[in-house]
Amino acid sequence: MTMEFTDRVTRVEPSATLAISALATELEADGADVVDLSVGEPDFPTPQNIVDAGQEAMDAGHTGYTTSAGILELREAISQKLADDGLDHGTDEIIVTPGAKQALYEIVSALVQDGDEVVLLDPAWVSYEAMVKMAGGSLSRVDLSPHDFQLEPALDELSDAVSDDTELLIVNSPSNPTGAVYSDAALEGVRDLAVEHDVTVISDEIYKEITYGVEPTSLGTLEGMADRTVTVNGFSKAYSMTGWRLGYFAGPEELIDQAGKLHSHSVSSAVNFVQHAGIEALENTDEAVEEMVEAFEGRRDLVVDLLAEHDVDVAVPDGAFYMMLPVDDDDQAWCEGAIEDAHVATVPGSAFGTPGYARISYAASEERLREGIERLAAEGYL
Ligand code: PLP
Repeated sequence: MTMEFTDRVTRVEPSATLAISALATELEADGADVVDLSVGEPDFPTPQNIVDAGQEAMDAGHTGYTTSAGILELREAISQKLADDGLDHGTDEIIVTPGAKQALYEIVSALVQDGDEVVLLDPAWVSYEAMVKMAGGSLSRVDLSPHDFQLEPALDELSDAVSDDTELLIVNSPSNPTGAVYSDAALEGVRDLAVEHDVTVISDEIYKEITYGVEPTSLGTLEGMADRTVTVNGFSKAYSMTGWRLGYFAGPEELIDQAGKLHSHSVSSAVNFVQHAGIEALENTDEAVEEMVEAFEGRRDLVVDLLAEHDVDVAVPDGAFYMMLPVDDDDQAWCEGAIEDAHVATVPGSAFGTPGYARISYAASEERLREGIERLAAEGYL
């Protein structure tokens, strides 16, 4: 008997990252000074040219419904961006969504049916598991934590996890929560398995623009992957636009048609003037993105050094703005204690499928990062 959708939703946990942020906000409302290292959003304002473009679009009356897949000019700009990354997608293979999260939800819902197997690389971003469960899929998980969160040394384990029963594999590089960027050899290993077992792969590239000295390869550029890869990206992280809610996915036309039905019947379209601001983001914001990435790199180095002073070694991330801090086996208790005793908010690794760690976001000022680490040390958490 198939499980009803309502039952599936009942069994899914709310987002752990959003729950911790809510707790931090609650403590702050009670007067506590919380160093919030739990947030998954850049602490920079949206670049002014993007804000201006959004305002101008509103003034120009771009406030009505748009084509469900998104305005053509934005899809053209996205098509060009993908081409710059080596991916060939015409505008009819792109759907613009209110955030990458919605894009992922639509793809997973369109692809996964009751009992279908989906492979995740742990630690994996919190919402993948929930989306798969809500679609009725089952999970097979590969733990990258023994390999400093890298995929290449775990290809044998991945090979054991992927079979002809696998419908979908989700790859997220640079990764949330580890910041790992997977090597080309790792991605080629993914390709070989996907081709052998006829698996569709989601390549969640939302942190692609935020890397430090490495250039991540888009999975869909590898030979044999163009017609089995769905590339997901969005504006939240690279352009500091989390609240604008703008993302997209691009993939084989058949899947776009199927997911497009879901899209048109659930969200109609992304917000009109926000889509106009998205064109400006893609076309004229390189310098602001570069500055932000440089700032993140400096903070990464600072946190790694400060932790080393307390004899804590971490797998140094090459991208995104997260790192995994090794903590007690009971990471939930560690995180609860850290927020209660030190007023430092982090996210338990178990929320990402990897107990024994806490995720730190270094999307905070250097001063707050220092303060947070000092407090954790002073309260005996390091
Ligand atoms: N994918 C990953 C790996 C993320 O970390 C996030 C946000 O935290 C998203 C997708 C969704 O981003 P948004 O919906 O803000 O575009």
